[in-house]
Amino acid sequence: MLNLVLFGPPGAGKGTQAELLAKTFELNHVSTGDLLRTEIAAKTALGIEAKRKIDKGELVPDEIVVAMIKNKLEKNKDVNGFIFDGFPRTLEQAMALDKLLDENETPVTGMLRLEVEKQEVIIRLLNRGKISGRSDDQDRSIIENRITVYCQKTLPIIEYYKPQGKHFEVNGMGSVEEIAGRLKEVVEKIR
Ligand code: ADP
Repeated sequence: MLNLVLFGPPGAGKGTQAELLAKTFELNHVSTGDLLRTEIAAKTALGIEAKRKIDKGELVPDEIVVAMIKNKLEKNKDVNGFIFDGFPRTLEQAMALDKLLDENETPVTGMLRLEVEKQEVIIRLLNRGKISGRSDDQDRSIIENRITVYCQKTLPIIEYYKPQGKHFEVNGMGSVEEIAGRLKEVVEKIR
């Protein structure tokens, strides 16, 4: 199985690129952000709790997202692999993912890290907020908080994958096609 983690700051273009990679390599695209927004739209208890966190630019508790991933993996056993988008976002989530995948004997193949400058990320998020109406993308202070949380809680994951030889840097600046091409090149090498 080919299991990819697409990593990067909010607004790095993970969703767009994950979709393209999922098509190219016939992978199951799993976005925790999308899963959470589905729960919010359905007004489930989980969705209501998640919304409170998302609206402040904070992370949703690990137990919630890990349980959602577990459910996804259990429901999709006959697939070529997965592309995880927006997950893992904490060290605990990275370790939980390994445990879940180990249970199925299919480890993470690689973590693709999209590098994008902070100023560019803020511009992209504010633009996305205008188009999508996502409230967490419309307020500069929420965006700033998400970037701070990313630096504090998410960036340390790099040091988890690096010693395993699973960390691959990809320049996330440029056109969608250019970035897709760079990602594809790395995946061709590691699969
Ligand atoms: P982006 O990466 O572009 O900010 P996402 O759609 O991936 O957007 O996530 C939106 C919000 O959902 C995050 O700011 C966070 O509050 C929550 N979220 C998504 N994935 C996770 C996760 N793995 N762990 C905790 N919270 C998450």
